[in-house]
Amino acid sequence: MYSKEKILAFEEQIQYIASLSENPSNITRRTYSEAWFSSLIYLSQKMKMYGMNVRVDGIGNLIGTYYPPSLKSEDDVAVVGMGSHIDSVVDAGAFDGVAGVVAALDVARQIYEDGNLKAVFEVVAFAEEEGSRFGIGCLGSRYATGDILSQDIPPEIYLMSNSFNQRFQNNNIIKNNASEDIGWMKDRYSSFLEIHIEQGPILYEKSQTCALVSGVVGIHRMEIAFLGQANHAGTTQMRRRRDSLVMASEFICGCWDYGQNQKNQVITNGKLINFPNEFNVVSGKSEVSVEIRGDDDDLLEQTVCHIRRFAKEIAKKYAGEVLIETLEQIPVRSFDKNLLKGLDISSGGSLPKCMSWADHDTKFVSYVAPAAMLFVPSKDGISHNPLEMSEASDLLKASEIVFRFFKERN
Ligand SMILES: [Zn+2]
Repeated sequence: MYSKEKILAFEEQIQYIASLSENPSNITRRTYSEAWFSSLIYLSQKMKMYGMNVRVDGIGNLIGTYYPPSLKSEDDVAVVGMGSHIDSVVDAGAFDGVAGVVAALDVARQIYEDGNLKAVFEVVAFAEEEGSRFGIGCLGSRYATGDILSQDIPPEIYLMSNSFNQRFQNNNIIKNNASEDIGWMKDRYSSFLEIHIEQGPILYEKSQTCALVSGVVGIHRMEIAFLGQANHAGTTQMRRRRDSLVMASEFICGCWDYGQNQKNQVITNGKLINFPNEFNVVSGKSEVSVEIRGDDDDLLEQTVCHIRRFAKEIAKKYAGEVLIETLEQIPVRSFDKNLLKGLDISSGGSLPKCMSWADHDTKFVSYVAPAAMLFVPSKDGISHNPLEMSEASDLLKASEIVFRFFKERN
């Protein structure tokens, strides 16, 4: 369906950005690294090729804005946007985030060549989505949408971001001072779309080329501390033990079993901290993390209640105690129904629907603008891994649907 040249040109862009890495032997492009800076310079050149004005906001998001020649001013016209992230995890694949940025640039190319869009078009390459640098996920989009308060951003982030100001200016790119434009995305867009790789196996297994993402699953996070009694590993008889690690182990196995029977939920015990964690001491305190993700808030709540009850039963069984702390309770976030409907029409009604089981920048954008996402398959469902792969033809198809949607709806 797409010419060999077109597919090659798309792949070349992905591979060129992949080559911009902190480490020559793998793909690592964390925010504020030299590799990240080079990728922004490269993207800004592409944006300028498609007639865009380019700027960088306070945190390091790159923004390209296109005013179709037919528009007199930006004032009374809608702004439509697209974007994804350009930073990567350590030892990443080539496609996570980058695929969506390159696909957005392909939409920019189509809009530029067409010249008749009745809206301003903007592409955003978000910074620090992965949280690989500072442990705060989606920091770029949370900054742009005002989801994070200025005082909650560590000062060293602002210092690092500002340290690039002059270098961007040397490349004729305006870079705002950190904190001066926090929340700039509020009420800016009449629609915002992100194309992203699925990072899971479902589309690939079903041989689907593209899917509409209805929303992002809800996440509940708890920390559960089992308290027993630390004691001598030789002199304490088995029947007298109040071993917190045994409680934690039974709890983890129970979470696993419960999770196996849930259709649209996953439960993870990713963290275990044991005290005193010695060969010759019966454990006295064991902390286990619990993360539950699911696409239905009521079912999530049911699982949370079950897990809490279960932890208490185990503590009682072993004459211990349990402390349960809820860390996060993020409800399911649904994307804009009208946008999804419009995309469905523009695709000829051919696209399946799915949920996103990972967080994305566009979830935060969805709090300040009508927003939605499209997924393309990840080969074998592998992501955050050098083996990550998605087909350029699938990404081109997604970008074509988005272009058609913007053309037809604006
Ligand atoms: Zn991503």
